[in-house]
Amino acid sequence: MQEELEIKTHTALHVLKGAVRKVLGAKWTASVYVKGNHGRLTVQYDRKPTEDELKRIEELANKKVMENVPVKIIEMDRQEAERVFGDEIYDLFPVPEDVKKLFIVVIEDWNINACNKMHTKTTGEIGYIKIEDVRFRPSKKLLEISFNIT
Ligand SMILES: [Zn+2]
Repeated sequence: MQEELEIKTHTALHVLKGAVRKVLGAKWTASVYVKGNHGRLTVQYDRKPTEDELKRIEELANKKVMENVPVKIIEMDRQEAERVFGDEIYDLFPVPEDVKKLFIVVIEDWNINACNKMHTKTTGEIGYIKIEDVRFRPSKKLLEISFNIT
């Protein structure tokens, strides 16, 4: 059982990823980290975003929180999920081969991801998402976005 705060922080990762996808076009999540109200989203990307882009990401993410839309969880047969959503549901870290049922997290028109963690029922429960630090690692082509929720 995840701590309630960390459920919010984890759900914020999905909302932030949606904004990162829209603003930067970054498709692949390389890793995620959650500790208390602090989270970090690492995506595959080829440059450091501008200040304007980061501002836009934060604005869009918080707009999605304000809209208070449902965070839907759909349990699906893996093959069916792949047929319907393609590789959009996956991250760079693979779901083990022997997993045949997936929990698909859907924030409509925003983020779709196979994820078996716990989530808030709506985006509004997350609170404010504040981007705290951004690091780009050119050699690995990884962009790390650290944030807090308040
Ligand atoms: Zn999740």
